[in-house]
Amino acid sequence: MTSLQKLADGIYAWIQPGGGSGVSNAGVVVDDDGLTVIDTLMVRSQWEPFVNAVAELGAPVKRVLLTHAHIDHVGGTQAFRNAMVLGSPATSDLLDQPMPVEAYKTFFAPFAEEFDDLGEIGTRPVSHVVDDAAQLTPRIELLPASGHTKGDVMALIADADILFAGDLCFFGVTPLAFQGDPATWADVLEVVAELADVIVPGHGPVGSAAEVRDLQAYLRHCVEGSIPPGPWDQWTDRAERDPINIEKAAMLRAGDDGMPPTMLKAIGLLP
Ligand SMILES: [Zn+2]
Repeated sequence: MTSLQKLADGIYAWIQPGGGSGVSNAGVVVDDDGLTVIDTLMVRSQWEPFVNAVAELGAPVKRVLLTHAHIDHVGGTQAFRNAMVLGSPATSDLLDQPMPVEAYKTFFAPFAEEFDDLGEIGTRPVSHVVDDAAQLTPRIELLPASGHTKGDVMALIADADILFAGDLCFFGVTPLAFQGDPATWADVLEVVAELADVIVPGHGPVGSAAEVRDLQAYLRHCVEGSIPPGPWDQWTDRAERDPINIEKAAMLRAGDDGMPPTMLKAIGLLP
């Protein structure tokens, strides 16, 4: 059973074990005026326990920061009805689209029966667009980036040396770049590795610069088109995700920013 993991005074991570497809992390930062929740998990069985644990902190949730638009990070936004919702322009655009419930059922098969519920609840739109670096609260600095998607946002808590990296970091889990750019992503990680001592990834356990460097090396191999043995041999989801990442990098090199056919197969849109 997942619980809020205290990383520093007033800073918590919610780390879902395994970290595979649809199994993401979230966070909470306490400021004097209330709480900022960072990402909201996917389906009700995931976000309900998180929402209850956040309520036990006894302060109002003032802000929800969405690190990017993927459903395993934005599914629980309706549970924080009174908070402002912050996200990148790309996140805002995607949340304004109808939810592709059937594709989600295929891609996140273990959670398939929860998506009708989620489709009915829906997600909240972004109320405050983050298009530049900004000091959100006295503790939280927002850092826009790209690589995993076209609109990633990280949250740096400099006073505690902690970075919530969203899906710019996958630790112990193979990253997925179907809407990203592996080459750009690897470049961005050069900066990420230097930002904080403690890094909360979007998937997998809390880590540090060493895990960021492994992820960066993996992504560079995806760009090269073949992946030699390495620390990634211990990661989950390699078989499904290597071909998607390699194909996406090759497509971008050829000037094609479309969805990799290997990903279309994975969401049931190609046989
Ligand atoms: Zn993602």
